[in-house]
Amino acid sequence: MSIEIINVTKTFGNFTALNDISLEIPDGKLVALLGPSGSGKTTLLRIIAGLDVFDANPKSDIRFKGRSVIGHRIAERQVGFVFQHYALFRHMSVFENIAFGLRVRRGRNKFTRQQIKDRVMELLHLIQLDTLERRYPDQLSGGQRQRVALARALAIEPQFLLLDEPFGALDAKVRLNLRRWLRQLHDQIKLTSVFVTHDQEEALELADEIVVLNQGRIEQEGTPDEVFHSPKSAFVMDFLGSVNLFHGRIEGASVIFDSDIAGKKQIFVRPHEIDLLPVNPNGAGLSTTVRRVQLAGSIVKIELLDKSKREIFVELSHEKYNVYRFSTGDTVFAVPQKSVVFEEDYSI
Ligand code: ATP
Repeated sequence: MSIEIINVTKTFGNFTALNDISLEIPDGKLVALLGPSGSGKTTLLRIIAGLDVFDANPKSDIRFKGRSVIGHRIAERQVGFVFQHYALFRHMSVFENIAFGLRVRRGRNKFTRQQIKDRVMELLHLIQLDTLERRYPDQLSGGQRQRVALARALAIEPQFLLLDEPFGALDAKVRLNLRRWLRQLHDQIKLTSVFVTHDQEEALELADEIVVLNQGRIEQEGTPDEVFHSPKSAFVMDFLGSVNLFHGRIEGASVIFDSDIAGKKQIFVRPHEIDLLPVNPNGAGLSTTVRRVQLAGSIVKIELLDKSKREIFVELSHEKYNVYRFSTGDTVFAVPQKSVVFEEDYSI
Protein backbone atom coordinates (compact mmCIF):
# COMPACT_ATOMS: atom_id res chain seq x y z
CA MET A 1 0.00 0.00 0.00
CA SER A 2 1.25 3.48 -0.84
CA ILE A 3 -0.52 5.56 1.79
CA GLU A 4 -2.06 4.12 4.97
CA ILE A 5 -4.27 6.19 7.21
CA ILE A 6 -4.81 4.42 10.50
CA ASN A 7 -7.46 5.40 13.07
CA VAL A 8 -7.16 9.11 12.37
CA THR A 9 -9.42 11.54 14.23
CA LYS A 10 -9.35 15.31 13.91
CA THR A 11 -11.27 17.65 16.16
CA PHE A 12 -11.57 21.42 16.02
CA GLY A 13 -12.61 22.42 19.55
CA ASN A 14 -15.55 20.14 20.30
CA PHE A 15 -16.34 19.55 16.59
CA THR A 16 -15.19 16.25 15.11
CA ALA A 17 -14.15 16.81 11.49
CA LEU A 18 -12.69 13.29 11.02
CA ASN A 19 -13.94 10.40 13.10
CA ASP A 20 -11.56 7.42 13.35
CA ILE A 21 -10.71 7.19 9.66
CA SER A 22 -8.78 4.14 8.42
CA LEU A 23 -7.99 3.98 4.74
CA GLU A 24 -5.45 2.51 2.35
CA ILE A 25 -4.54 4.23 -0.90
CA PRO A 26 -3.20 1.61 -3.33
CA ASP A 27 -0.02 2.11 -5.30
CA GLY A 28 -0.39 3.83 -8.68
CA LYS A 29 -4.11 4.52 -8.32
CA LEU A 30 -6.11 7.70 -8.70
CA VAL A 31 -8.37 7.86 -5.66
CA ALA A 32 -11.25 10.32 -5.13
CA LEU A 33 -12.31 11.60 -1.71
CA LEU A 34 -15.97 12.37 -2.43
CA GLY A 35 -18.52 13.91 -0.10
CA PRO A 36 -20.74 16.90 0.56
CA SER A 37 -19.45 20.19 1.87
CA GLY A 38 -18.07 19.83 5.39
CA SER A 39 -17.67 16.04 5.25
CA GLY A 40 -13.92 16.28 6.00
CA LYS A 41 -12.34 15.76 2.57
CA THR A 42 -9.95 18.71 2.66
CA THR A 43 -9.05 18.06 6.29
CA LEU A 44 -8.02 14.50 5.39
CA LEU A 45 -5.99 15.65 2.39
CA ARG A 46 -4.21 18.31 4.46
CA ILE A 47 -3.36 15.73 7.10
CA ILE A 48 -1.87 13.42 4.45
CA ALA A 49 0.20 16.34 3.11
CA GLY A 50 1.42 17.29 6.58
CA LEU A 51 -0.30 20.70 6.44
CA ASP A 52 -2.42 19.75 9.48
CA VAL A 53 -1.90 17.36 12.37
CA PHE A 54 -4.45 14.84 13.62
CA ASP A 55 -5.41 14.30 17.26
CA ALA A 56 -2.70 12.57 19.27
CA ASN A 57 -3.53 8.92 19.87
CA PRO A 58 -1.16 5.93 20.17
CA LYS A 59 -3.41 3.94 17.77
CA SER A 60 -3.24 6.57 15.01
CA ASP A 61 -0.69 6.71 12.23
CA ILE A 62 -0.06 7.85 8.66
CA ARG A 63 2.35 5.68 6.70
CA PHE A 64 3.92 6.31 3.33
CA LYS A 65 5.13 3.08 1.72
CA GLY A 66 5.06 1.35 5.10
CA ARG A 67 6.92 4.07 7.08
CA SER A 68 5.27 6.36 9.60
CA VAL A 69 5.47 10.02 8.61
CA ILE A 70 4.30 11.39 11.95
CA GLY A 71 6.45 14.41 12.73
CA HIS A 72 7.78 14.64 9.15
CA ARG A 73 7.67 18.14 7.74
CA ILE A 74 5.87 18.88 4.46
CA ALA A 75 9.11 18.96 2.45
CA GLU A 76 10.19 15.59 3.83
CA ARG A 77 6.93 14.00 2.77
CA GLN A 78 7.65 14.75 -0.91
CA VAL A 79 4.07 15.31 -1.98
CA GLY A 80 2.92 17.46 -4.86
CA PHE A 81 -0.10 19.63 -4.02
CA VAL A 82 -2.57 21.31 -6.38
CA PHE A 83 -5.22 23.60 -4.90
CA GLN A 84 -8.56 24.79 -6.25
CA HIS A 85 -7.34 28.35 -6.63
CA TYR A 86 -4.32 28.59 -8.81
CA ALA A 87 -1.46 29.20 -6.49
CA LEU A 88 0.90 30.29 -9.25
CA PHE A 89 3.38 33.09 -8.63
CA ARG A 90 1.93 36.00 -10.61
CA HIS A 91 5.24 37.77 -11.14
CA MET A 92 6.93 34.68 -12.60
CA SER A 93 6.63 33.27 -16.11
CA VAL A 94 5.22 29.80 -16.71
CA PHE A 95 8.81 28.54 -17.04
CA GLU A 96 9.87 30.04 -13.71
CA ASN A 97 6.75 28.82 -11.94
CA ILE A 98 7.47 25.25 -12.97
CA ALA A 99 11.20 25.64 -12.28
CA PHE A 100 10.63 27.06 -8.80
CA GLY A 101 10.81 23.79 -6.86
CA LEU A 102 13.93 22.77 -8.80
CA ARG A 103 15.82 26.03 -8.24
CA VAL A 104 15.45 25.90 -4.46
CA ARG A 105 17.34 22.60 -4.23
CA ARG A 106 20.70 22.93 -2.60
CA GLY A 107 23.78 20.82 -1.95
CA ARG A 108 24.04 17.38 -3.49
CA ASN A 109 20.54 17.59 -4.97
CA LYS A 110 21.13 20.90 -6.76
CA PHE A 111 20.15 20.88 -10.43
CA THR A 112 22.27 22.44 -13.16
CA ARG A 113 20.69 25.13 -15.38
CA GLN A 114 20.52 22.67 -18.24
CA GLN A 115 18.87 20.02 -16.08
CA ILE A 116 16.25 22.57 -14.97
CA LYS A 117 15.60 23.63 -18.55
CA ASP A 118 15.25 20.04 -19.75
CA ARG A 119 12.92 19.12 -16.90
CA VAL A 120 10.68 22.19 -17.39
CA MET A 121 10.46 21.60 -21.16
CA GLU A 122 9.61 17.95 -20.52
CA LEU A 123 6.83 18.97 -18.13
CA LEU A 124 5.52 21.63 -20.53
CA HIS A 125 5.27 18.93 -23.15
CA LEU A 126 3.48 16.63 -20.69
CA ILE A 127 0.85 19.28 -19.94
CA GLN A 128 0.60 20.12 -23.65
CA LEU A 129 1.61 23.76 -23.25
CA ASP A 130 4.97 23.50 -25.05
CA THR A 131 4.98 27.02 -26.48
CA LEU A 132 3.73 29.01 -23.51
CA GLU A 133 6.80 29.07 -21.25
CA ARG A 134 7.26 32.85 -21.49
CA ARG A 135 3.68 33.75 -20.59
CA TYR A 136 2.66 35.03 -17.15
CA PRO A 137 -0.25 33.50 -15.19
CA ASP A 138 -2.66 36.32 -16.04
CA GLN A 139 -2.05 35.65 -19.74
CA LEU A 140 -3.40 32.09 -19.39
CA SER A 141 -6.91 30.66 -19.28
CA GLY A 142 -8.11 29.09 -16.02
CA GLY A 143 -7.62 25.58 -17.41
CA GLN A 144 -4.08 26.39 -18.60
CA ARG A 145 -3.21 27.81 -15.17
CA GLN A 146 -4.33 24.61 -13.48
CA ARG A 147 -2.20 22.56 -15.86
CA VAL A 148 0.80 24.73 -15.00
CA ALA A 149 0.03 24.27 -11.28
CA LEU A 150 0.04 20.53 -11.90
CA ALA A 151 3.36 20.69 -13.76
CA ARG A 152 4.82 22.70 -10.88
CA ALA A 153 3.65 20.06 -8.42
CA LEU A 154 5.16 17.30 -10.59
CA ALA A 155 8.50 19.09 -11.08
CA ILE A 156 9.90 17.94 -7.74
CA GLU A 157 9.13 14.31 -8.65
CA PRO A 158 6.81 13.79 -5.70
CA GLN A 159 6.05 10.31 -4.42
CA PHE A 160 2.34 11.25 -4.29
CA LEU A 161 0.12 13.86 -5.89
CA LEU A 162 -2.66 15.46 -3.83
CA LEU A 163 -5.31 17.58 -5.54
CA ASP A 164 -7.94 19.63 -3.72
CA GLU A 165 -10.92 20.38 -6.02
CA PRO A 166 -8.41 21.09 -8.80
CA PHE A 167 -11.11 22.04 -11.31
CA GLY A 168 -13.55 23.62 -8.86
CA ALA A 169 -13.09 27.18 -10.09
CA LEU A 170 -13.51 26.37 -13.79
CA ASP A 171 -16.62 26.37 -15.95
CA ALA A 172 -18.38 23.08 -16.77
CA LYS A 173 -16.96 22.51 -20.26
CA VAL A 174 -13.35 23.25 -19.29
CA ARG A 175 -13.79 21.04 -16.23
CA LEU A 176 -14.92 18.15 -18.35
CA ASN A 177 -12.01 18.50 -20.76
CA LEU A 178 -9.47 18.85 -17.96
CA ARG A 179 -10.66 15.81 -16.06
CA ARG A 180 -10.38 13.65 -19.18
CA TRP A 181 -6.94 15.09 -19.73
CA LEU A 182 -5.95 14.36 -16.10
CA ARG A 183 -7.15 10.76 -16.45
CA GLN A 184 -4.97 10.28 -19.56
CA LEU A 185 -2.04 11.93 -17.82
CA HIS A 186 -2.45 9.61 -14.85
CA ASP A 187 -2.49 6.56 -17.15
CA GLN A 188 0.78 7.84 -18.60
CA ILE A 189 2.65 8.63 -15.36
CA LYS A 190 0.82 6.30 -12.90
CA LEU A 191 1.67 8.46 -9.89
CA THR A 192 -0.38 7.53 -6.81
CA SER A 193 -2.82 10.42 -6.53
CA VAL A 194 -5.62 11.50 -4.21
CA PHE A 195 -8.10 14.16 -5.25
CA VAL A 196 -10.90 15.85 -3.39
CA THR A 197 -14.21 16.55 -5.07
CA HIS A 198 -17.83 17.08 -4.15
CA ASP A 199 -18.86 16.33 -7.75
CA GLN A 200 -19.97 12.71 -8.07
CA GLU A 201 -19.73 12.72 -11.87
CA GLU A 202 -16.15 13.89 -11.66
CA ALA A 203 -15.32 11.12 -9.18
CA LEU A 204 -17.13 8.45 -11.20
CA GLU A 205 -15.41 9.42 -14.43
CA LEU A 206 -11.92 10.05 -13.15
CA ALA A 207 -11.16 7.77 -10.22
CA ASP A 208 -9.96 4.18 -9.95
CA GLU A 209 -11.39 4.09 -6.43
CA ILE A 210 -13.85 6.34 -4.62
CA VAL A 211 -13.97 6.98 -0.89
CA VAL A 212 -17.35 8.44 0.07
CA LEU A 213 -17.17 10.62 3.19
CA ASN A 214 -20.10 11.81 5.29
CA GLN A 215 -19.78 13.80 8.51
CA GLY A 216 -16.17 12.81 9.08
CA ARG A 217 -16.70 9.09 8.50
CA ILE A 218 -16.17 6.77 5.53
CA GLU A 219 -19.56 5.64 4.24
CA GLN A 220 -18.16 3.38 1.54
CA GLU A 221 -15.07 2.80 -0.54
CA GLY A 222 -14.78 0.91 -3.79
CA THR A 223 -14.50 1.21 -7.53
CA PRO A 224 -16.86 3.68 -9.25
CA ASP A 225 -18.87 0.68 -10.45
CA GLU A 226 -19.18 -0.75 -6.92
CA VAL A 227 -20.22 2.45 -5.18
CA PHE A 228 -22.67 3.40 -7.94
CA HIS A 229 -24.29 0.01 -8.52
CA SER A 230 -23.99 -1.48 -5.03
CA PRO A 231 -24.37 1.41 -2.59
CA LYS A 232 -24.15 0.27 1.03
CA SER A 233 -26.29 3.04 2.44
CA ALA A 234 -29.13 5.35 1.48
CA PHE A 235 -26.68 8.26 1.77
CA VAL A 236 -24.35 6.78 -0.87
CA MET A 237 -27.25 5.90 -3.17
CA ASP A 238 -28.58 9.46 -2.91
CA PHE A 239 -25.21 11.19 -3.18
CA LEU A 240 -24.04 9.26 -6.23
CA GLY A 241 -26.82 10.21 -8.61
CA SER A 242 -30.44 11.19 -8.65
CA VAL A 243 -32.82 8.80 -7.00
CA ASN A 244 -36.55 8.46 -6.26
CA LEU A 245 -37.74 7.45 -2.84
CA PHE A 246 -40.89 5.30 -2.77
CA HIS A 247 -42.68 3.58 0.03
CA GLY A 248 -43.96 0.06 -0.21
CA ARG A 249 -44.28 -3.46 1.07
CA ILE A 250 -42.13 -6.44 0.23
CA GLU A 251 -44.22 -9.47 -0.68
CA GLY A 252 -42.06 -12.48 -1.46
CA ALA A 253 -39.75 -11.52 -4.28
CA SER A 254 -41.78 -8.50 -5.35
CA VAL A 255 -42.16 -4.99 -4.07
CA ILE A 256 -45.63 -3.45 -3.96
CA PHE A 257 -45.26 0.29 -4.39
CA ASP A 258 -47.46 2.76 -2.66
CA SER A 259 -47.19 6.46 -2.04
CA ASP A 260 -48.75 6.09 1.41
CA ILE A 261 -45.89 6.20 3.92
CA ALA A 262 -47.33 4.61 7.07
CA GLY A 263 -45.65 1.34 8.04
CA LYS A 264 -43.90 1.00 4.70
CA LYS A 265 -40.30 0.37 3.76
CA GLN A 266 -38.22 3.01 1.98
CA ILE A 267 -37.46 1.89 -1.55
CA PHE A 268 -34.93 3.69 -3.75
CA VAL A 269 -35.15 3.63 -7.53
CA ARG A 270 -32.90 5.42 -10.00
CA PRO A 271 -34.71 7.49 -12.69
CA HIS A 272 -33.45 5.27 -15.53
CA GLU A 273 -34.79 2.16 -13.80
CA ILE A 274 -38.46 3.07 -14.11
CA ASP A 275 -40.71 2.11 -17.04
CA LEU A 276 -43.80 4.10 -18.00
CA LEU A 277 -46.97 2.41 -19.28
CA PRO A 278 -50.46 3.67 -20.17
CA VAL A 279 -52.14 0.80 -18.27
CA ASN A 280 -51.35 -0.69 -14.89
CA PRO A 281 -49.67 -4.08 -15.35
CA ASN A 282 -50.86 -6.51 -12.61
CA GLY A 283 -51.49 -3.57 -10.32
CA ALA A 284 -47.71 -3.22 -9.77
CA GLY A 285 -47.41 0.29 -11.17
CA LEU A 286 -47.90 3.58 -9.41
CA SER A 287 -50.57 5.88 -10.87
CA THR A 288 -49.05 9.28 -11.71
CA THR A 289 -49.63 12.38 -13.83
CA VAL A 290 -47.04 13.75 -16.24
CA ARG A 291 -45.93 17.23 -15.18
CA ARG A 292 -43.13 17.93 -17.63
CA VAL A 293 -41.32 16.24 -20.49
CA GLN A 294 -37.84 17.42 -21.43
CA LEU A 295 -36.87 16.12 -24.86
CA ALA A 296 -33.62 18.00 -25.43
CA GLY A 297 -30.53 15.88 -24.81
CA SER A 298 -29.46 12.29 -25.26
CA ILE A 299 -32.23 11.00 -22.97
CA VAL A 300 -35.82 12.10 -22.29
CA LYS A 301 -36.35 13.43 -18.74
CA ILE A 302 -39.90 13.16 -17.43
CA GLU A 303 -41.26 14.61 -14.19
CA LEU A 304 -44.33 12.89 -12.72
CA LEU A 305 -46.54 13.62 -9.71
CA ASP A 306 -48.13 10.85 -7.69
CA LYS A 307 -51.53 11.20 -6.03
CA SER A 308 -49.91 12.83 -2.97
CA LYS A 309 -48.22 15.35 -5.31
CA ARG A 310 -44.79 13.86 -4.69
CA GLU A 311 -42.34 14.22 -7.57
CA ILE A 312 -40.96 11.21 -9.42
CA PHE A 313 -38.15 11.61 -11.94
CA VAL A 314 -37.85 9.22 -14.86
CA GLU A 315 -35.27 8.97 -17.64
CA LEU A 316 -36.11 7.10 -20.85
CA SER A 317 -34.21 6.56 -24.07
CA HIS A 318 -35.75 8.46 -27.00
CA GLU A 319 -36.57 5.07 -28.52
CA LYS A 320 -38.56 3.98 -25.46
CA TYR A 321 -40.23 7.37 -25.12
CA ASN A 322 -41.39 7.26 -28.75
CA VAL A 323 -43.52 4.15 -28.12
CA TYR A 324 -46.19 6.11 -26.17
CA ARG A 325 -45.02 9.74 -26.42
CA PHE A 326 -46.63 10.75 -23.11
CA SER A 327 -47.17 14.47 -22.59
CA THR A 328 -48.09 16.88 -19.81
CA GLY A 329 -51.37 15.96 -18.07
CA ASP A 330 -51.42 12.29 -19.18
CA THR A 331 -52.03 9.60 -16.58
CA VAL A 332 -49.21 7.05 -16.65
CA PHE A 333 -48.19 4.08 -14.52
CA ALA A 334 -44.65 4.11 -13.20
CA VAL A 335 -43.21 0.61 -12.93
CA PRO A 336 -39.85 0.37 -11.13
CA GLN A 337 -37.59 -2.23 -12.74
CA LYS A 338 -34.86 -2.34 -10.11
CA SER A 339 -35.05 -1.09 -6.58
CA VAL A 340 -32.94 -1.02 -3.43
CA VAL A 341 -34.21 -1.20 0.15
CA PHE A 342 -32.18 0.05 3.12
CA GLU A 343 -33.13 -0.67 6.71
CA GLU A 344 -32.25 2.79 8.00
CA ASP A 345 -34.71 5.67 7.78
CA TYR A 346 -33.54 8.36 5.39
CA SER A 347 -34.98 11.56 4.00
CA ILE A 348 -34.01 13.05 0.66
P1 ATP B 1 -15.83 21.53 1.29
O1 ATP B 1 -16.27 20.64 0.15
O2 ATP B 1 -16.87 22.55 1.63
O3 ATP B 1 -14.47 22.09 1.13
P2 ATP B 1 -14.82 19.44 3.07
O4 ATP B 1 -15.49 18.12 2.98
O5 ATP B 1 -13.50 19.59 2.39
O6 ATP B 1 -15.82 20.58 2.61
P3 ATP B 1 -13.42 20.24 5.44
O7 ATP B 1 -12.85 21.50 4.87
O8 ATP B 1 -12.51 19.09 5.61
O9 ATP B 1 -14.69 19.78 4.60
O10 ATP B 1 -14.09 20.58 6.83
C1 ATP B 1 -14.72 19.60 7.62
C2 ATP B 1 -15.38 20.27 8.79
O11 ATP B 1 -14.37 20.78 9.67
C3 ATP B 1 -16.25 21.46 8.40
O12 ATP B 1 -17.43 21.45 9.17
C4 ATP B 1 -15.40 22.66 8.73
O13 ATP B 1 -16.20 23.77 9.10
C5 ATP B 1 -14.57 22.15 9.90
N1 ATP B 1 -13.26 22.82 9.92
C6 ATP B 1 -12.29 22.72 8.97
N2 ATP B 1 -11.21 23.46 9.32
C7 ATP B 1 -11.50 24.03 10.52
C8 ATP B 1 -10.79 24.91 11.43
N3 ATP B 1 -9.55 25.30 11.15
N4 ATP B 1 -11.42 25.27 12.56
C9 ATP B 1 -12.66 24.84 12.85
N5 ATP B 1 -13.38 24.01 12.05
C10 ATP B 1 -12.81 23.61 10.91
